[in-house]
Amino acid sequence: MMHVPFFRPSITDAEVAAVTGVLRSGWLTTGPRCREFETRFAEAVAARHAVALSSCTSALHLALEALGVRGGDLVLVPALTFAATAEVACHLGAVPVFVDVDAKTLCMDAAAAGRTLAVLREGRPIAGLAPPYGAVRAIVPVHYGGLVADVVGLRRLAAEHGVAVVEDCAHAFPAQYRDDGWRPAGAGADVACWSFYANKTITTGEGGMATTDRPDRADRIRCMSLHGMSQDAWRRFERGGSWDYEIVAAGHKYNLTDLAAALGLVQLERANELWQRRRTLAARYTEALAGIAEIDLPVEPEDRRSAWHLYAVRVHHGARDAVVKRLRERGVGTSVHWRPLPLQPYYRDRWGYRPETFPVAAREFPRLISLPIFPDMTEAEQDHVVRELRSALATAKS
Ligand SMILES: *Cc1c(COP(=O)(O)O)cnc(C)c1O
Repeated sequence: MMHVPFFRPSITDAEVAAVTGVLRSGWLTTGPRCREFETRFAEAVAARHAVALSSCTSALHLALEALGVRGGDLVLVPALTFAATAEVACHLGAVPVFVDVDAKTLCMDAAAAGRTLAVLREGRPIAGLAPPYGAVRAIVPVHYGGLVADVVGLRRLAAEHGVAVVEDCAHAFPAQYRDDGWRPAGAGADVACWSFYANKTITTGEGGMATTDRPDRADRIRCMSLHGMSQDAWRRFERGGSWDYEIVAAGHKYNLTDLAAALGLVQLERANELWQRRRTLAARYTEALAGIAEIDLPVEPEDRRSAWHLYAVRVHHGARDAVVKRLRERGVGTSVHWRPLPLQPYYRDRWGYRPETFPVAAREFPRLISLPIFPDMTEAEQDHVVRELRSALATAKS
């Protein structure tokens, strides 16, 4: 029987050579490869500044810090997201306020965000949250599966309320959205945060990036990524650099290594090729699964081009777990993105979140299955997934 994993990284001899080159270079940690990765990545997402970091989680943390999120502040986060998006608000002593998602895109619903902001402004309770409320500082949309959220609507809302937009772009490289013309995901965000985790669309093993057009924000993020030092370590070792530095804040240790950046530079060069392969696979899934009544397929509105990090289908109610189990038995790896975060014990118990506060996320989560999609997936592997999914759905129905 054929085995199709949920994900397999795409690593060529070029990545191996680039990392080996760094190993032989005498400089392993943050240095020239990181600087080059920052420059090229900033170009790719049309941002003025980029700071290479150890993860998207650290990028989100430092983005909120740089935007002035402090104890007691509120941060709006979609109910359907990964732990990282909300935990960083908690690290700063802020309160994550969860907002429901749009039924079609599974991204934060701008209308729901507007209603949440109105409720907060009027000082009415949300779940177990009670007034008096702190200031809302930021909205953090997630581009679910690689499809850009309604950033135009969310930015308009943010501007009306005087709050920042930090985009969780962990899935979204190199997605695009149409505003005046086609723009890369993250372009126009106050800060955009990217992930190069092993199974994301390009990888450095572990790694991340923060991008922004504002030099003061980039400087603050860079400073806080390396112990709050006034100048970073690699500049200290440059010719003419000094041993001296000032510690201006209690920072973190969130820098990226040159080993990782060298890997990232090759992946970045291959990003379009990797993306086109994902787009082809997504189109093939959509064609092969189109006729099946029991599932809903992911959408790509005509004003967006998904990065296709995920291909998440929704099965009819009650069938999901049986289908996942059957696929596993038939050699197909899948995943679920995600149990709504506010229903996880920590958020549920600490702030009293209940499914009624996010009816769409609560209704759609039990239907979600993410199918394997990765650039090196063969057509034979994809055909196996389609065949086994059809059969699992038929079995679950009977
Ligand atoms: C993967 C992921 C992150 C975290 O990325 P890391 O680089 O592993 O820190 C954040 N948000 C979302 C939506 C993710 O899927």
